[in-house]
Amino acid sequence: MTSHALLSASGAERWMACTPSPRAEESVSEESSEFAKEGTFAHGLAELKLSLHLGEIGKKEYNKRLKEQKTNEFYSEELEKYVDVYVDLAIEKINEARARTKDALILLEERLDYSPWVKEGFGTGDLVLISDDVLEIVDLKFGKGIKVEAQDNSQMKLYSLGAINDFGFLYDIKTIKMTICQPRLDHVSTDELVADDLLNWADNIVRPLADLAYEGKGEFKSGDHCRFCRIRYTCRQRAEDNLKIACLDFRPAPTLTDDKIVEVLTSIDELIKWAKDVEEYAFKEAANNGKQWPGFKLVEGRRTRRYSSEEKVAE
Ligand code: SF4
Repeated sequence: MTSHALLSASGAERWMACTPSPRAEESVSEESSEFAKEGTFAHGLAELKLSLHLGEIGKKEYNKRLKEQKTNEFYSEELEKYVDVYVDLAIEKINEARARTKDALILLEERLDYSPWVKEGFGTGDLVLISDDVLEIVDLKFGKGIKVEAQDNSQMKLYSLGAINDFGFLYDIKTIKMTICQPRLDHVSTDELVADDLLNWADNIVRPLADLAYEGKGEFKSGDHCRFCRIRYTCRQRAEDNLKIACLDFRPAPTLTDDKIVEVLTSIDELIKWAKDVEEYAFKEAANNGKQWPGFKLVEGRRTRRYSSEEKVAE
């Protein structure tokens, strides 16, 4: 069993926008960043604390495992403090579910199978609660980069679909609540939707796009979603879309019109991100694999190594 689905829930925003991307990046290996490893550790610590709260483990076992966790390279009191923010929120949600019905279903780190709509699709719900006709999914995001909203969030919606698929035969789920907790950004976002609307989205939007994506078909489309794509450095579509900005038709006026300036401003963030990605790729290839880029060389600085054109080096 693979640990990641080809059409993952976390990558849904991307593969739904650019359906050929999952197959296009398949041959490029995934680098696990230090941030990702830290996130995995934080999830494990949160699960441990909630397992104690739910009585799944006793205090003695908890203390033993917490002691082990504290020897981990990613452990710090600050990290634990942020994990506790999520744990407090999770306990609040558990209490709300139990208030609705005392035998609420409470699951930690549950594998959720949404493969009826997305071939081989599955993900992991950090906290899944089902009480009467209410399903609630709570997701911990430990990064401190970008705030993520629960509203219309494809990842959360796919997790919810997975829970309906896995438990819908036991519960008549009508309402879905989705909560994202980003403790390091002091950010909690919640959304609520009707189960029938979710199923309509799954049947009419998700399934056709997932079928295309699984086959590697459809149109390449660049955008903000490229930032987690493994071929973002060398993707032809992304390069072409960004280079279009450099090929704006500036004639006949000798200076830019207001409209053209707005056009440049609109594209500038994506253009800068793309240019930095290409530079980073070129640097890594040169530094790690000895790749020679004609006209460029690695420059040894006092504290850093960077990549520069030979003309600049000569200046
Ligand atoms: S970099 Fe962007 S455009 Fe290229 S395959 Fe990936 S998601 Fe699609």
